[in-house]
Amino acid sequence: MKAIAGLAFVLAAAVANAQTPDTILVNGKIVTADPQSSMREALAVRDGRIVALGSSAQMRRLAGPQSRVIDLQGRTVIPGLIDSHLHAIRAAQTFATEVNWIGAASLVEALARVTEASRTMKPGAWLIVAGGWNVQQFKENRRPTQAELVAAAPNNPVYIQLGYGWAMLTPMAIKALNVTTAADGSVSGGQNTIIALFDKLPKPTFDQQVDGTKKFFRELNRLGITGVYDPGGNNLLPEDYQALFKVWRQGDMSVRVAYTLCGNVPGGEFEELKNLVALVPQGFGDDMLRFGGLGERITAAMNNNNRPTDAEKAKYYEIVKWAADRGMALTMHWGNDASVGQLLDIFERVNKETPIGNLRWSIAHLNDASEASLRRMKALGIGWTVQDAMYFGGEGYVQQAGAAAAKRVPPVNTGTKIGVPIGGGTDAHRVASYNPFTSLQWFLDGKTVAGTAIRGPEETPDRLDALRFYTLGSAWFSFDEKKRGSLEVGKLADLAVLSKDYMTVPVDEVHSIESVLTLVGGKVVYASGPFTKLER
Ligand SMILES: [Zn+2]
Repeated sequence: MKAIAGLAFVLAAAVANAQTPDTILVNGKIVTADPQSSMREALAVRDGRIVALGSSAQMRRLAGPQSRVIDLQGRTVIPGLIDSHLHAIRAAQTFATEVNWIGAASLVEALARVTEASRTMKPGAWLIVAGGWNVQQFKENRRPTQAELVAAAPNNPVYIQLGYGWAMLTPMAIKALNVTTAADGSVSGGQNTIIALFDKLPKPTFDQQVDGTKKFFRELNRLGITGVYDPGGNNLLPEDYQALFKVWRQGDMSVRVAYTLCGNVPGGEFEELKNLVALVPQGFGDDMLRFGGLGERITAAMNNNNRPTDAEKAKYYEIVKWAADRGMALTMHWGNDASVGQLLDIFERVNKETPIGNLRWSIAHLNDASEASLRRMKALGIGWTVQDAMYFGGEGYVQQAGAAAAKRVPPVNTGTKIGVPIGGGTDAHRVASYNPFTSLQWFLDGKTVAGTAIRGPEETPDRLDALRFYTLGSAWFSFDEKKRGSLEVGKLADLAVLSKDYMTVPVDEVHSIESVLTLVGGKVVYASGPFTKLER
């Protein structure tokens, strides 16, 4: 009898041990973003997943001798942020070799970053700022002059790009590239001019790309990001994915990446895409790296084209019909509501022949989406990735469309009411900053970088809704909303412990929030301040 009781005790201990959490977070304010919007004090993680949530006392009772117990000292925890439209693969490739002006409050500060890079990089290295800034963020409210760039780094070729519309080169850069510029050293023109110019710049070596990828992902972790949906983009060819693939093979990914593929050869996109995905089924990969379909540019002819011809639409239809037949997801870049009917007509035609309702197709941007378009999207099961384009572009939009129209841009509350899946994000790093807290603040106050309030209360989400766009909402686009995006039992332990309480800090401080501890699959990928020693 005694022996049997002893055996039962041993068995119970073994079972308990198998369920003992490896990490427990206590004394926190955990914003779970579950369906009930529950707040919890503590959670427990085992093998990369959340195994329990509750009070600190309840979670402490689950701890075994091996469990790591982290005292959050009252800090706020949110689900790891997911940017549903971040050109992360491209940004990562050059992160170790580019200078960035993201968040610089003055031109003086921006130029100082160029000078600093000229000291830390190899002598004579190219100093490249490839976007991610705008004029209104500087208190001087203007672009740099060529003379200022020369003064900042007299012994380096310097290249500064503003969005996709303008670039400035110093004489050393002009000579090295052998290009023609305006008298002041600038190049302006359409997107294609700037893309072609950028292609002439020296590319980082493969090792620099790998290094840049790891550093960029760590930078995203610093800002609480644990996942991205990468929509390909300009200047991004198959060889440009190899650094990312190496980081994945090495097991060094600290951000989960779902990626889509673009057509790059004008007129030859169908052949190109067929070749690219012939042996890559939709969803192929693992929880760190997953193939997510086509986009955001599917054919050059339909890219930023408000009046596509019948022939251009026929070609596009052929590709997306083929994608539907193969069960592929896709995301499509579209700028404005006035012409989006051209795209929705095609999607509706495909849907009649091959239902696309479960394929998680999406439209990116469409900042001025009308209620009618959102209803058509809902009927097709199409999601909407929303970025903080108005943070940089708000004043321009008011000039073009008027203050009244700008009040409802983008209409995320209407989209939510209609039931369109919405993901948050930025479109970084050429045309925007990748900082999710800049974007979250903009969701909440509708203010541009210059401080102009543009959006009205009708289309302003509350804090939890904005957070949901950036977590569960974004997870939907890669079929991951049951795996991540909220902090619930069984989900991946992707989370961020914040430097300030996102739920209660004054709105104008949201942009300054950082993570002090970021977990991806229960693993510490970033830690600072009181948690520094938890990393590695
Ligand atoms: Zn786009």
